[in-house]
Amino acid sequence: MSSSAQRYFEQAATLLNMGASEQKLLLTPLREVRVQVAMRMDDGQLATFTGYRIQHDKARGPMKGGLRYHPEVNSAEVLELASLMTWKTAVVDLPYGGAKGGISVDPKTLSPGELERITRKFIDEIHEVIGPDQDIPAPDMGTNAQVMAWIENQYEKYHGYSPGCVTGKPVEMHGIDGREEATGRGVAIILQATLKRLNRPLKGISVAIQGFGNVGSFAASILHDMGAKVVAVSDVLGGIYNAQGLDIPALQAHVAQPAEKVSSFPGGTPIINAELLACDAEVLIPAALGGVLTGDNAQAVRAKIIIEAANSPTTPEADEIFHQRELVVVPDILANAGGVTVSYFEWVQNRQHFKWELADVREKLAKQMTRAFDDVWNIATEKKVPLRAAAYLLAVGRVARATKLAGIE
Ligand code: NAD
Repeated sequence: MSSSAQRYFEQAATLLNMGASEQKLLLTPLREVRVQVAMRMDDGQLATFTGYRIQHDKARGPMKGGLRYHPEVNSAEVLELASLMTWKTAVVDLPYGGAKGGISVDPKTLSPGELERITRKFIDEIHEVIGPDQDIPAPDMGTNAQVMAWIENQYEKYHGYSPGCVTGKPVEMHGIDGREEATGRGVAIILQATLKRLNRPLKGISVAIQGFGNVGSFAASILHDMGAKVVAVSDVLGGIYNAQGLDIPALQAHVAQPAEKVSSFPGGTPIINAELLACDAEVLIPAALGGVLTGDNAQAVRAKIIIEAANSPTTPEADEIFHQRELVVVPDILANAGGVTVSYFEWVQNRQHFKWELADVREKLAKQMTRAFDDVWNIATEKKVPLRAAAYLLAVGRVARATKLAGIE
């Protein structure tokens, strides 16, 4: 586990008076699967890749977590992300544990046929350890709804009809309405809940968002619709700033055109990503990469509220500086849990064989996220700790209690 995730866990474990052996029990993954994925490429050559599925904890239910296709996927990273899923599902009180997986491959170099074959071969190797009551994968970096559809189909060749074996599927293949927007919508709901506690209106508040992919673009458009003023947005190539607020629907139409990017949008002044992080906005939403807020740039951040939409965007050094500066930082395990929450609704829908309506999905997402936020805020107030420490206290406490109640023999 990385030093930051382990550090936050240990802080919570100490406050919960957990002994060393209890801590080791919760930190150690239940099962680490590493497989060889061998396949024939389009040119007839044989290629082999390494695939992983790491199941961290199942004390609170079947394990849940995404599958990442990226050249840098490795067992240390997968383990860290698997443990984050355990705390994330616990903090929003979903009846799940945590897992993560992936293949060390650059999906951009694969043809559609190769992407399908690598997915099916991977499921051939891991189908015995996943399943609706065991471990339920979902999309992550480099995978999408189509990949999830192939996973369902391949899994069902072994186990029969089982749509609940994977989430994030296309709506036409047992997926749920509202899954695509869910993480961005959850981020907006969390900002709304934060401002309510700070007695600040959401209407007119200025927001800067790093990343305009799935999470960043939905967060931007939902916040725009709610009345917030999105003043800055960026993608990997750069960003734009407009103190009067960006026209987000027009920006979305702009980037949907081939060869256009965020920074070429005419409705704002071009900025680089470092300027976005330090721009004049009341709220900063990092929604791109991990590790972007560091000891080097934390003093320059002008926002007073940070909503961590990306996983691990804040290094421990930056976190300490934000704490000293009394910024409100809503941690990733709470702020970006909207995706896994709607994945849970999809799994429930599959198990009920009953199609949920979009309005129900949105209403239940708002209820679940707001309740989790209130739980975390109340712990932070009562124990006089930052929101991150409070979120870990809630999550680690829930997993520890379930582990103890189940017994170990
Ligand atoms: P995405 O690939 O759809 O979008 C990523 C965006 O970040 C793109 O706009 C890209 O151009 C931009 N970006 C990449 N490198 C950048 C850089 N150096 N500087 C600025 N921008 C950069 O990914 P996503 O699904 O939106 O995920 C974003 C983050 O949210 C990731 O950290 C992911 O782990 C996390 N997350 C996603 C979900 C989900 O449901 N998609 C759920 C939980 C957490």
